[in-house]
Amino acid sequence: MRLRDSDVNMTPPAIPVTRSSMPSFEEYVATIAPLWESRWLTNRGALHRELEEGLQEYLASPYLALFTNGHLALESILEAFDLKGDVVTTPFTFASTTQALVRRGLTPVFADVRSDNYTIDPEAIESAITPETSAILAVHVYGGLCDVEQIEGIARDHDLRVIYDAAHAFGATRHGQSAASFGDASMFSFHATKVFHTIEGGAAVVREARLVERLYQLQNFGISGPEEVALVGGNAKLDEFAAAMGLCNLQNIDTEIARRATVDAVYRENLSDVAGLYIPELPSHGTHNFAYFPVQIDARRFGMNRDAVVDHLREHGIGARKYFSPLTSEFAAYSGRFDPSETPIALQASREILTLPLYADLRVDEAETVCRVVQGLAR
Ligand SMILES: *Cc1c(COP(=O)(O)O)cnc(C)c1O
Repeated sequence: MRLRDSDVNMTPPAIPVTRSSMPSFEEYVATIAPLWESRWLTNRGALHRELEEGLQEYLASPYLALFTNGHLALESILEAFDLKGDVVTTPFTFASTTQALVRRGLTPVFADVRSDNYTIDPEAIESAITPETSAILAVHVYGGLCDVEQIEGIARDHDLRVIYDAAHAFGATRHGQSAASFGDASMFSFHATKVFHTIEGGAAVVREARLVERLYQLQNFGISGPEEVALVGGNAKLDEFAAAMGLCNLQNIDTEIARRATVDAVYRENLSDVAGLYIPELPSHGTHNFAYFPVQIDARRFGMNRDAVVDHLREHGIGARKYFSPLTSEFAAYSGRFDPSETPIALQASREILTLPLYADLRVDEAETVCRVVQGLAR
């Protein structure tokens, strides 16, 4: 294989921005061993069913369908509701959210975000609603949840569906309720970099029981019976090896989140008072899952802009990610279609935010090293 020029200087940083958690080798092997007997490797096998039950309990949601990834779970939710026209959403998100809408033939209408936690601003939703609007697609950001009560109030007033991209929110709660319990549906991603993962994987959680079968049909070629195909479906099934990884990781989820919380606390303690750094507060009315540690940098007060900070961290062997940047409304794929200046708070955040290394295996001394380097860059 030939290296591209851009690969030559890209040795991975000593402290990467993320690192997938894995169960012990023995734990995983013990979980997959029965597959050599059963030879049932996909299509809702025993491990799939076991994971489904475990997640129903953990997420406190009975109506759930597993998928091969979060993105196809989201596309399938949009399809299951047969949405049309405009969907009010946020541009401060991962590519998947906006791409799912456009791939389903829907028109994203971008509303701005709150400056304190970067979730969609309910007031901005209100003014983005048109006669063509059929739904709100909101995103829980970094492990903190949206203003779900206000969003759902607006949806009731205007008779809209509410769908959450909950890819960042596994294990987070609000007023004691699971992130999975809000809106008409939520998508969770179980990608290898998420707090809980199945290597690749995801889930659609819905409020109405009857939608679960529809979601499972959509992910299995529309097949509705032994000799019947009722829907125009595709293929987005979760296989047994992925389900096994999920079962192991679900066993360890409390430790996973607790270890992330330790790292979060080290960053908060050392960086909160640095002039020019803004760190969103943890929610007072719920629990966070410590999925990411975002820092917004005011270049004038800090003495260096976000891009330069990312470069300097890399020189010190520390990974940082410009996340989310650019806004989805700025993607080349949508050239000329949207005006990013219509969401000024999101635009500024995308220019000023980075996320610091955060994963369960990150040691306290490594997190302290990251803090010292960041402090050293401040004026
Ligand atoms: C990871 C992620 C997705 C996509 O999930 P996949 O499982 O990778 O398909 C969607 N939205 C957000 C906000 C994400 O972080």
